[in-house]
Amino acid sequence: MPFSKNGRRDSLVDDRRVSGPRWFRFRHMSSHDDLRDIRITDVHMHVQPWLGLRKDVSAVMRNAQDDFDRILAMMYDPSLLLAFLDEQGVDRVGMVSYPAPDTMGVGMETNDHTLRYAEANPRRLLPYGGVNARFTTNATRDVEALAERGIRMLKIHPPHQLYAANAYTQGLSALGEIYAACERLGIPVLIHTGTSIFPGARNKYGNPLELDDIALDFPDLQIVMGHGGRPFYMGEAFFVLRRHKNVWLDMSGIPPKSLLDYFPKLHELEDKLLWGTDWPSPGVKTMRKNIDQFLALPVSSTLKRKALETNSLRLLPDRTR
Ligand SMILES: [Zn+2]
Repeated sequence: MPFSKNGRRDSLVDDRRVSGPRWFRFRHMSSHDDLRDIRITDVHMHVQPWLGLRKDVSAVMRNAQDDFDRILAMMYDPSLLLAFLDEQGVDRVGMVSYPAPDTMGVGMETNDHTLRYAEANPRRLLPYGGVNARFTTNATRDVEALAERGIRMLKIHPPHQLYAANAYTQGLSALGEIYAACERLGIPVLIHTGTSIFPGARNKYGNPLELDDIALDFPDLQIVMGHGGRPFYMGEAFFVLRRHKNVWLDMSGIPPKSLLDYFPKLHELEDKLLWGTDWPSPGVKTMRKNIDQFLALPVSSTLKRKALETNSLRLLPDRTR
């Protein structure tokens, strides 16, 4: 297989077809018989037009990923990504992208890229997009346009977009308009929390406590907290997650084997856990390694199924049926 380094393609995934949809099962994990039919959604991975990235950003990627060129090809060819997902045992992916022209090099064209890309398989490839509150001239219209084109989630990246997630409370009105439009249109918002190592990132904007304001001011908005404030804001993250029923935890970017060190009371968040990888960000080699580590945690199969499959189906239902 083109993307398998170790040739173990069949150890995890059996992608037999059962009356149309694809099924995934874990043949090698006899302790997880009750999860054999699970269909995994990775709610947070990235598909972006990498050729437009700032040179210093792309250098970070190249240094972090041995198979940079192969991943680069995947960023432009959905058939390569779909084959990779089959190999990894992942059914659906949320493809994160957002405009951050000054810090990352990519602007609003990233939305066109992801939307076009998702057309290859609208059930499995869920396009996320973004509007940058510092550059938009009409935030409401921009969000409405993305909603009409089928964006499933809107990403806000405070350390890369250079404003706090709650900056609308201090005058950045476009950001408040973005949240209001998403709330009205039923589009969840994914907000990066925690650090970023990319050259232009301002990490003072990584505190998840800022989501407390958003949850209070937009009570019908579904808010997905990216990365749970890792690696040092987990106390704030847990507080906000437990306080607000409309805040979900996207576990991507946290090494699954450290998850219970970060969130010892993970079970209290069972109904709002969303599994994700942040692949191909630095430090994330494959999705499958994360799945294996997550399945090995001493938590209930019910929690595992909710995190890997059913919670994300509630938040992001299959619209193709
Ligand atoms: Zn990410």
